[in-house]
Amino acid sequence: MFADDLILIMKGSLIEINYHVEKIFKMIRDFGMNPNKDKTKKTTNPKEILYLGIWLDKQTHLKFNLDKVKTNFKKLINILQQKKFTNGLKIHFFKAVLHSQLLYGLEIFDLTQKDFNAIDVWINKKITKFLLINPHSPRLIYKTEAKIDTARITIYKRRFKLIQKLKILDFNQIVDNLKFREQKFENINWQNNTLKELEIELEKYRIKQLENSPSWKVHKYLRIISIQNNINKQQRYLKWKGSTSILKLRNFTNYLNRYSYVMNKDKSKFCKLCKKSKNLDIIEDLDHFLWNCPAYENNRRIWISELKKINISNILNNNNIINIIIKKDSIYLLSLVGNRLIFESLLKFLNKNLGIRANKRD
Ligand SMILES: [Zn+2]
Repeated sequence: MFADDLILIMKGSLIEINYHVEKIFKMIRDFGMNPNKDKTKKTTNPKEILYLGIWLDKQTHLKFNLDKVKTNFKKLINILQQKKFTNGLKIHFFKAVLHSQLLYGLEIFDLTQKDFNAIDVWINKKITKFLLINPHSPRLIYKTEAKIDTARITIYKRRFKLIQKLKILDFNQIVDNLKFREQKFENINWQNNTLKELEIELEKYRIKQLENSPSWKVHKYLRIISIQNNINKQQRYLKWKGSTSILKLRNFTNYLNRYSYVMNKDKSKFCKLCKKSKNLDIIEDLDHFLWNCPAYENNRRIWISELKKINISNILNNNNIINIIIKKDSIYLLSLVGNRLIFESLLKFLNKNLGIRANKRD
């Protein structure tokens, strides 16, 4: 408790110092305009001052954070790409090491949308790289799965907490300098009284963001996530080995021709196995792959008999696994991968099928 208070006071005084230093340096700079000053004396400005790891100039500090994190990412990427690390661990590393370093101290600056974009672009590029997913995957999906908010939401949340603490410490003058740049379309009230109220608003905002997306992939994903009813948590299956294959399915940006066809128009969207054995043009989408393609029938029988044995009555409201199998409901099935047994059996089925698919393709 004491250490926490101390940090608060340090942060508080940091902002106060930042504020005063700006004033002092403005005076120095103004003095610089004065022809009577001593021209041989070099004056320092906030760009050259580092205090508690924070440069007292926004641009310098932003660039400093980005440069540092870029260097560290190069070192980390080799480790992160190793198969022995689960996605859950990779995300944990990313948040603990890179994310926090990248965003360090930024809550005290007045950042513009351009500043936030610069940070987000960097984060988005890197995440697809270490999760080994297609860089064209809808970022709303994989970031919701991993529970990584935009830089603005994350930094503003930190600022919100800082302000709450500063108010308790009676640093009201400093609070006045920590403005939020409201975004009308977001409808987030950053003047909320409690963190809990803010979290509720953020949850609504995240759902709205998915709803307003023009992407059909995101809309399908929204159905998955609404069945699960847990948009505010990182998906637990990401902590298990092999989760990238499942993430790719939930992203609708994967190897199946229906989805890769959108990215690469030279490709056919039809199932090659059905073409080869029956000369039929059938779109290879998730439904076809999971429930209908005759090439996987043997694997499918084993998989379905496994599914039927899994007891999930506790997570299925008014639905049961037989129903899902009869309806061939791929979306509902994808919403159940948080169950370890469903996850494992789907993964096994997937890998067997991919083997067949790879062998029989030209
Ligand atoms: Zn087929």
